[in-house]
Amino acid sequence: MGLPGSVVWDSALLGYDLGGEHPLHPVRLELTMRLAATLGVLDGVELLVPQEATDEEIERVHDAGYLAAVREAPMAGWDVGHGLGTPDNPVFDNMHEASARVVGSSLLAARQIASGTTKRAVGIAGGLHHAMRDHAHGFCVYNDLAVAISWLLDNGYERIAYLDTDVHHGDGVQAAFYDDPRVLTISLHQNPLTLFPGTGFADETGGPNAPGSAVNVPLPPNTGDRAWLRAFHAVVPSLLAEFQPQLLVSQCGVDTHHEDPLASLSLSVDGHRTIYRTVRALAEQYAGGNWLAAGGGGYALLRVVPRSWTHLIATVLDRDVPADTTLPSEWTRFVDKIAPTAELPLTMSDGKSVDFEPWDGEDGERVDSVIKEVRRAVFPLHGLDPDDPRD
Ligand SMILES: [Zn+2]
Repeated sequence: MGLPGSVVWDSALLGYDLGGEHPLHPVRLELTMRLAATLGVLDGVELLVPQEATDEEIERVHDAGYLAAVREAPMAGWDVGHGLGTPDNPVFDNMHEASARVVGSSLLAARQIASGTTKRAVGIAGGLHHAMRDHAHGFCVYNDLAVAISWLLDNGYERIAYLDTDVHHGDGVQAAFYDDPRVLTISLHQNPLTLFPGTGFADETGGPNAPGSAVNVPLPPNTGDRAWLRAFHAVVPSLLAEFQPQLLVSQCGVDTHHEDPLASLSLSVDGHRTIYRTVRALAEQYAGGNWLAAGGGGYALLRVVPRSWTHLIATVLDRDVPADTTLPSEWTRFVDKIAPTAELPLTMSDGKSVDFEPWDGEDGERVDSVIKEVRRAVFPLHGLDPDDPRD
């Protein structure tokens, strides 16, 4: 019997390297793939090797002039514009080629699903959700998931749901499809008044041709697993049930973790694991089982990202790793070699309970004011009753 999902990976994806001091360090990808392999999650799995996306593919969502600037930037002087050469988006060698390969990763995942080869595909290098049509933004050069969604729309898909659980607003993907009723973008993130990129308020609900096609859930700093999951369940399943997507695309940034150095939500690895299992169930229930998963942010490089995304890959493959699984010594020894002072966790869990009380329509918890605000902004646009918890 075949596996339910495909995994896209090639060590060449480590070439998306913004430099030694930059928080988005590719070691997080390498340590994830190594941990997944060591735990047996990848046993018998043929890793699909992506190619660099072509200019034509990338230009689905980016301007040709921007591609030219990215390609020339490593050879150009200091002023290349387009958001390049900034502390967030430093120019690096082979920036175009490395970024095009990330796009190729998400495109390959999309093609696998569209061809019927698999129902699920995951590529942890993808998920560069901030990149805009004509500029780099928030560590992201090309918007791989927007390219993949655009390609899918031209290859048989008419309704795609995009679900972004990164701690930052999925602004680039939202911008690409803000006025397109075929794409429902849902982003849960830390309140933009307190965090980059400063967008993602509840009243951003889509353009004039696509009312309700953008959904934003701005969560207060320090929101933990239970409140996060309460908000998710109060908003997301109803919208998916109504929208009836043919495919769920998810950006699985893990910078929501309480140890993440760049943001202030308080989720745990156990919360992340629960999110993946929930998304899988929602894809089964509402999207014909079709699920394209990508990575995203996550800057606790050693202690969080490898464990969380190993859970992600395992979930895609129906090889769920029990939370209390001990971290294999083969893996921890490898990390010790590259980071001798790091204190590593002992298991695949943070030991947190993820039991939450579903929202019941009353104001019982701090997050409920956000739930009501979001539902009132967007539920009526989908014919749903914002005040009725059954909707
Ligand atoms: Zn992020």
